[in-house]
Amino acid sequence: MNVFDSKHNNKKKIYHYIREKGLATKQDIAYNLQLSLPTVAQKLEDLVVRGLVGAECKVANKAGGRNPVAYTYVKDAKVAVGLDITKRHIKSVIIDLDGNIIKYVYRRRLYQRNDGYLKTLGETVEKIIDSIGLSRDKVIGVGIAVPGLIDFEKQCVVRGTVIDNTGMSREDFSTYIQYPTKLIHDSNASGFCEIWMSSELRNAFYISLCNSVGGTVLIDNEVYMGDGLYSGEVGHLNLVTDGMQCYCGQKGCADAYLNAERLADYTNRDLGMFFLRLEQGDGVLKEIWDEYLEYLAVLIHDIRMMFGSTIIVGGYVGIFIKDYMEVLCEKVNRKNPFGEDAAGYIMPCNNNTEAVATGAALYFVKEFIEAI
Ligand SMILES: [Zn+2]
Repeated sequence: MNVFDSKHNNKKKIYHYIREKGLATKQDIAYNLQLSLPTVAQKLEDLVVRGLVGAECKVANKAGGRNPVAYTYVKDAKVAVGLDITKRHIKSVIIDLDGNIIKYVYRRRLYQRNDGYLKTLGETVEKIIDSIGLSRDKVIGVGIAVPGLIDFEKQCVVRGTVIDNTGMSREDFSTYIQYPTKLIHDSNASGFCEIWMSSELRNAFYISLCNSVGGTVLIDNEVYMGDGLYSGEVGHLNLVTDGMQCYCGQKGCADAYLNAERLADYTNRDLGMFFLRLEQGDGVLKEIWDEYLEYLAVLIHDIRMMFGSTIIVGGYVGIFIKDYMEVLCEKVNRKNPFGEDAAGYIMPCNNNTEAVATGAALYFVKEFIEAI
């Protein structure tokens, strides 16, 4: 490690210490991180000047004498914006450096591949920032989550069939957005959000059951991208030989059986209504749901055999899965050759419908915190 790294690391260590404790004095920091007081003082000054750490309050000195200054963590020193673009809506969020949602806006808007739509994206970002009277210089970036196969390095959509976005780049989506942007695969965004929120999880497979089915491999708190574009694309695992038509052109893909729209189509495209009527005992829906869970169990079993990790059931359907975990686990257990109990490795997602937008914004938060 060179001298620069070491100095830089001290600042980061101090920042993370205060972030974790919420509040700390110079003496606490020096003692616990084994740094000299002048070093701590110098790094703190820099963090205070940048507004990342506050120095307004004092704590009582138990030993008597002057009360030392308590340095506090400023979680909204910076914020990030996340956009979740789908066929029928644009969801936007503003999150703080802890990943808390400060503001969420849902807007119904049909996706269209034209300049008018891109303008709408720009307006959506400006509106959500204005709605809370936020100063523009606080915004570290805008994460844009879209369906489709994304080349994260090249920041473009290689193949977009869920919405017509093949060939579109980060620059295209950002035409009317005046902040740094990133283009992110929607299920990677929600998977990343999930693991960020569960501090005890380091490895997991996240299944996104939205209007298309995707997945994310999370290894050591990072999204594993593989060597190509297809890591985690479990929506196109073949569940049924020569089965139902998938939008990808193949037959029998998991997506054809497990996309959320398939359920919502029974209740006028309202997934919440599907689960409400299911709860009320609708016989037809009960059969459909049981079949759905059967297919989901196959998918979960295959993933478990492949990765042996925790499997998080997320996406639009994941929001409702909590109440059906017992029956889902039973179905998965019937397939397990090792007598494992699925209740020990299947988890319903924590997050709700804002997980995609939040996860997209979190890419900026993570980068910002790591660069301090
Ligand atoms: Zn497919």
